[in-house]
Amino acid sequence: MGALHQRKDALSWGRAHHFTHHMAQPAFADELPAILKECGPRPVLARGLGRSYGDSGLNADNVLIDMRALDHVRSFDATAGVLDAEAGITLKDVLELCAQHGGTWFPPVTPGTKFVTLGGAIANDVHGKNHHGAGCFGNHILSLRLMRSDGMVLTCSPDENAALFRATLGGMGLTGLILSARIALKAVPGPWVENEDIRYDTLDDFYALTNESLGDWEYTVAWIDCLARGRSMGRGIFSRSRHVAATRPAPPLQDPRLALPVNLPNIALNKVTLAVFNALYIRRASRKPTRKVVPFDGAFYPLDAIGQFNRLYGNRGFYQYQCVVPAATEREATRALLTEISQAGVGSFLAVLKTFGDKPSPGLMSFPMPGTTLALDFANDGAPTLALLSRLDAITRAAGGRIYAAKDGRVSAADFQAGYPQWTDFARLIDPGFSSSFWRRVSAGAAA
Ligand SMILES: Cc1cc2nc3c(=O)[nH]c(=O)nc-3n(C[C@H](O)[C@H](O)[C@H](O)COP(=O)(O)OP(=O)(O)OC[C@H]3O[C@@H](n4cnc5c(N)ncnc54)[C@H](O)[C@@H]3O)c2cc1C
Repeated sequence: MGALHQRKDALSWGRAHHFTHHMAQPAFADELPAILKECGPRPVLARGLGRSYGDSGLNADNVLIDMRALDHVRSFDATAGVLDAEAGITLKDVLELCAQHGGTWFPPVTPGTKFVTLGGAIANDVHGKNHHGAGCFGNHILSLRLMRSDGMVLTCSPDENAALFRATLGGMGLTGLILSARIALKAVPGPWVENEDIRYDTLDDFYALTNESLGDWEYTVAWIDCLARGRSMGRGIFSRSRHVAATRPAPPLQDPRLALPVNLPNIALNKVTLAVFNALYIRRASRKPTRKVVPFDGAFYPLDAIGQFNRLYGNRGFYQYQCVVPAATEREATRALLTEISQAGVGSFLAVLKTFGDKPSPGLMSFPMPGTTLALDFANDGAPTLALLSRLDAITRAAGGRIYAAKDGRVSAADFQAGYPQWTDFARLIDPGFSSSFWRRVSAGAAA
């Protein structure tokens, strides 16, 4: 391998996966054909900001192409709200661009962090707290430019190379390098949101609040106490927000105000500290809805205030578990998942519940389906953690649900394939020069 390919270690966001790669760091897009040629038979994968929790953004012993420097705005139509940008641009950059134009355009869908690239958001077809109205990120991509491993650049859209377009939205980086994309932003009254937090007591309350909020509130999500049992199971704080007009200018976007410089010892987050923390946190919220108008930054991206919060779980890192269970089985399946977790007495302060809407994504392998999604972290304690997560997989699978690749680092091939029966159609559209550690694991045991 030439100078473009230094051997470097790359970590998953959960820090439980740590592999050596041949790493290429192009400064300009026109370097990519030579890099791809030089990679030769080694499979390639693009890397964005590395915010995927497991191994879907890793390609052990093979090539990672760091796309972050390819972040130029190709054009921005401030009248129509259409942005054409290179895939390495971050959501934070996009938000800053929107602010420069009066804050009246906004990403149509945003995950819980602004530290993701456009390419990463497309490759995982990310969802946000507004899934019930807006669908996925891919619902708002007008077209994209994709470089295949032979250096050929294809424009893909719902009308042109449509199969490849669908496969690339949520395609986990396996269909080629996304060079740039055109995205339709959404018009908003300004950079402020009205936010309401409501403390609730039971899982049924969560569904009642959800149903009551879907019409009037663009964003909904609940923080839950994952250790609560019995009647209190699923209790938490329901948050709903919507964009509102405000005369004040918004403060600048926050960079992390506090950083964890080292991995915290695992004991910092044990069953006792978690139970105490959860109980205190829930009591701090009011039972009466309290409305506040706040800048969107703190409301949508609370974790962005803490740099490297992924060091919270000790040297062995953590797994995030995120699954979705379909609407028909959502209540009993969610209850079964929470029972399993609370009986194990593990989990995390960061546990969220949300319902997805029924707007289908054009993405062939997109994660969301109408139903309930649960996401929470588990410190990596080795075999007991993996055993618990397998039990959660069994519940998810029996309910007709699936897990989210962006968060996963250990699901079995059988469980993955059961959740995504279309995976064989997808496998036919993968670029033969691309692969990932995740894909080699979940596609094992069947002819691709
Ligand atoms: C705090 C936090 C909150 C989150 N909240 C949410 C949430 O609410 N909803 C949600 O859906 N996700 C959420 N995520 C997950 C995150 O949105 C995704 O993992 C996202 O894909 C990360 O983007 P990235 O730029 O870091 O990409 P990486 O993690 O580096 O890569 C992700 C995938 O994108 C591919 N990729 C990256 N760039 C390109 C490119 N140019 N061409 C082709 N493929 C490419 C990679 O190969 C890989 O498969 C969250 C993550 C964190 C850390």
